[in-house]
Amino acid sequence: MRFDILTIFPGLIEGYLSDSILKREILKKTVKVVAHDIRAYSKDKHEKVDGRVYGGGAGMLMTPQPLYDAIKAVKRKNKGAKVVYMSPAGKVLTHALAMKLSKRKGLILLCGRYEGIDERIKKLCIDEEISIGEYVLSGGELPALVVVEAVTRLLPGALGDERSAHEDSFSEAFEGKKEYPQYTRPAEFMGLKVPKVLQEGHHKKIDEWRKKKLR
Ligand code: SAM
Repeated sequence: MRFDILTIFPGLIEGYLSDSILKREILKKTVKVVAHDIRAYSKDKHEKVDGRVYGGGAGMLMTPQPLYDAIKAVKRKNKGAKVVYMSPAGKVLTHALAMKLSKRKGLILLCGRYEGIDERIKKLCIDEEISIGEYVLSGGELPALVVVEAVTRLLPGALGDERSAHEDSFSEAFEGKKEYPQYTRPAEFMGLKVPKVLQEGHHKKIDEWRKKKLR
């Protein structure tokens, strides 16, 4: 799957991609993630990408020209990709939405900064707005990385054990509920013991216990 991330801070994206599951998947070529600097598309001689808001108000807004040209150029490389604007006003990302996105061949994720983007870009270029929660961050880079990671974990073969992503909180196997408590060695730590049923190796009883403990 190919992700293109449009940002004025490509270094923030590249830093996160240099480790963990995402690095491994990039090496395995399961996913390709490319960060693009929106400033490189600005026709302004100072590579400006922001402007004052019509009607007044606090802060600046991302101007349409660099965004329009950047999206157009990236769409040529990621054909058929859905263009997503990371926005606090968007649809909140859930496991179900991540599953849906994981079925696509590509995504183009636009990271806003300042007070956001000119409304006309939403009309002209954006297929969907996604939020990572009802709070406001300073930029769309963390939200875009959240989407990349949530979706990548769901791709076939992305996790060491194929079952992991499908036996996680919110998955179908957990009936949309949250994971049961889990323990590792030692069997007793600071006076707290691992429940006996988990130590006995009776799989049917373990399954029943785990089902009962889903939250
Ligand atoms: N003025 C905007 C508002 O009130 O909705 C907030 C703009 S915010 C300071 C700058 C950028 O950060 C947004 O354009 C968006 O790309 C990103 N952002 C902030 N919070 C987000 C969230 N919860 N989910 C997704 N993106 C977010």
